[in-house]
Formats: sequence, structure tokens, C-alpha cells
Amino acid sequence: MQLADAHCHYHDEWLLPHRERVLRDLAAVGTVAAVVNGTNEADWADVKQLCADAASTHRSVRLLPSFGVHPWHAGNRSENWERALLEALDTTPGASIGEIGLDRWMLDRAKPDDPRLHGLRRAPLDEQIAVFRRQLELAAARNLPATIHCLDAWGALLEALQTSARPARGFLLHAYAGSLELVKSFTDLGAYFSFNGYFLDPRRAARLQPVFRAIPRDRLLLETDAPAMPVPKEWATHKLPREAGGSIVNHPANLDATCTGLAAWLGIDRDELAAHTLENFRTLFGAV
Ligand SMILES: [Zn+2]
Repeated sequence: MQLADAHCHYHDEWLLPHRERVLRDLAAVGTVAAVVNGTNEADWADVKQLCADAASTHRSVRLLPSFGVHPWHAGNRSENWERALLEALDTTPGASIGEIGLDRWMLDRAKPDDPRLHGLRRAPLDEQIAVFRRQLELAAARNLPATIHCLDAWGALLEALQTSARPARGFLLHAYAGSLELVKSFTDLGAYFSFNGYFLDPRRAARLQPVFRAIPRDRLLLETDAPAMPVPKEWATHKLPREAGGSIVNHPANLDATCTGLAAWLGIDRDELAAHTLENFRTLFGAV
């Protein structure tokens, strides 16, 4: 079985000490490709380096670099962010755009002392939309895949997508947790949707199972968002030490369990789902 991880952050500092083991485990579970997403100007060089290193040392797993300003980091972007993004893209063959997007959770629901947002200025939605549009337009102009994050801002995202240029090849809504009703609207605009193993938690499953059943099969992908979004304990086949703050570090090889879980939701064979989602990955991100 061959798998593709449509969205992850394998360059993250919490995976760094385990890099060799993680890359070996990925090969063992059949992960043949993954899109590694940078989230701010400071981590693009790490993304680029990891993808280049893996290409020379771990040829069974192809890591595709992606550069973007994530909505959590929009408020701390430098004056030169657009020039820096163009330069990262121009000097990295095969790079795509992401992680970009909109996030109202950060503004409305996140605690003031949430450690994940420590030190970040939380950009108001209008500012996030402006930063998102610039990056989406760039993806459209170059017809590059764009990877989109959205929390609590589905209406605003739909409107931004409807009124912006979009890449003709499509875009990814990563860890899609929007409503069933919006699936068709996003699909019509060119969306692909990736399923995250975090959704296998029974409380999330109750809401999201009908949503993923409604997504057209040729728009469905699998992802881990590793080291974030851990799969529920009972699904985890691979474990890593917790980070210093105590949070679980999601091992990217849990993509295997993610595939098994979604196949069960859809009532199809997991090999068939793996083949489908790999095909869709190739269509959106290019041949691997
Ligand atoms: Zn992510």
C-alpha cells in the first residue's frame, strides 16, 4: 500500500530529534510523498532544507516543500514578506503555496495564554483576509497548489475564494471541518479536502462522518498535520515522546491508521482508499 500525506510540518522542532526514525517509519508504512508546509518567513529555510536532505538520503519518501504565511503568523509578518515568499518559490523547484488561510478561533475562542499563540500578534480578520488573498492570487498566477487552513471562518473563506483569482489546478482545504452544506460550494470552486486522523475521536466523528461521506471521491486526500492534531490514543500505531509543554507529538506514520479509519467511515477497502487518495494527491500536487 502506498500513502501520501497531503499536509504536515515534518520540519517542526518537535520532530527534529526523531527525524531518522520518523523517515524510516514513513517508509515502513508506505508513505511515498508528503507536502511539508512552512507557516512563517522564519521556517521556510527549514522546510527547504529538510525536503532537499530527504531527497538525497531517503529516496522512498518524496517531501514536497510549501511556503506560506499562516493566519496565526499574519500579524507578525515582516514588511518584506511578499518579496521573501517570491524568493523562496523562485529558488525552490516544485514548491507550492501554504499554509495560508483564515482563523477566527484565534480571535474569538483561544485563551489569552494559549502557548501555541505565545508571542504572536493576533491579526484581525480583515488583515488576515488581505494576507490570504495576496497568497492565493500568487498561487493563481503561477497555477500552484495552495494549502488552506480554516477555523471558525468558513463563510469568510467562501467569500474570499469566490471573489479572488484561484489556481486552475485547485486548492486543498486541509483538515476540513466545515459543514456538509458547504462541501458542494467549495467543490465547485476547485477544492480538495484532506481527512485528518484527529477526526477519528468519537465526538468529532459524529459530526464529520456524514461530511466526509459527501465529499466527491476524486477530491479526497489524507493528512497528518504532524506533529499537530494527534490521532486518538486507541488509533495511534506510532508514538513519540511528548513535547516539553506536555502536548502529544503526532507521529506522521499514523497516516496508516488515518487511512484505515476513513476507509471504515466510507465502507470501502483501505487499499482502495489509499490508491484513490494517492491518485488525487498526484492530480493536485503533481507526479510523485
Ligand atoms: Zn498545518
